[in-house]
Amino acid sequence: MPSAKTHDFITFALAVPTALVSYYFTGNWTLTLITTVAMLFGGLMFGPDLDIQSKQYTRWGPLRFIWWPYKVALSHRSRFSHGIVFGTLIRIAYFLIVVSLLLAIVLFAREKYLHHRVNGVSEVQDAFTYIWEILKPIKRNYLIAAFAGLWLGAASHTASDVLGSFFKSVKRSF
Ligand SMILES: [Zn+2]
Repeated sequence: MPSAKTHDFITFALAVPTALVSYYFTGNWTLTLITTVAMLFGGLMFGPDLDIQSKQYTRWGPLRFIWWPYKVALSHRSRFSHGIVFGTLIRIAYFLIVVSLLLAIVLFAREKYLHHRVNGVSEVQDAFTYIWEILKPIKRNYLIAAFAGLWLGAASHTASDVLGSFFKSVKRSF
């Protein structure tokens, strides 16, 4: 498996090609910027190795607790984290759910403090609605560009993991 340094190097090396390809297809600087930044974010912080105590994980700093259940639940290089197709989708869904639940806790605490009565279910519903309302007005093609970038950052990680293991086994068989 390539080291974290190699993974970072590959991510940075992909920045210019990502920007060029995305500008070629979209002809739009905003979409190009979104794709490229999302790719860097996907490779450096939102990648498959969040399933282990990794650089991607520690880069979240004090917020890394968000990924703690993910890290504990998934075995390293599981299909759910390193899968080319579902890895990124699962991380996005996981992230949105955890952020919504954290927001629900804040709403819960506020209700308890202000009105001394809490419902529990309605705070969770409100939190999910709130997050949905933030995402809904964002232009569809901005979201697609962001997803494409995140996916590319993660997919290049998995591809280099696979290639790294392949070359290691070739070397071993000689
Ligand atoms: Zn990995």
